Amino acid sequence: MNELESKTETDCLFCRWIREGRHVQTYGSAAAFKDGYPVTDGHLLVVPLRHAQNWFAMTDSELRDADALIRRLAEKIRKADPSVSGFNIGTNIGESAGQTVFHAHIHLIPRRDGDADNPRGGIRGVIDGKRCY
Ligand code: 5GP
Ligand code: ZN
Repeated sequence: MNELESKTETDCLFCRWIREGRHVQTYGSAAAFKDGYPVTDGHLLVVPLRHAQNWFAMTDSELRDADALIRRLAEKIRKADPSVSGFNIGTNIGESAGQTVFHAHIHLIPRRDGDADNPRGGIRGVIDGKRCY
């Protein structure tokens, strides 16, 4: 089992990032990291400091902190980069839904006019060919 498939905090990629202090910002029990393979410029991952497998395993208080951090980061990104005109926020839960790192994380993906030929449908794109309707 490698860091991406880890079931415990000892071999978890995001637990290691937390231990190494690689966060860009924290709020309470939540931390934000730069995604290593960003979908767009500024793509961040918001994670609970505690090793929780996915979004459903987060406590109410962890969810509140993650939400507050996402709002703060989005505000900061918009102020720093006026070309940002939208966001996608999402989380993959389970392998069948595309989750590859089994420490809960919420993707915060800044969007800009023209960054996709036709952005219509956004996260509906999780299934090939189903984004536009
Ligand atoms: P998931 O597919 O589980 O929703 O998201 C995992 C995220 O972690 C992906 O967006 C991916 O780019 C990021 N990621 C996976 N492995 C690495 C890595 O080794 N380094 C960095 N910086 N990011 C990674
Ligand atoms: Zn972890």
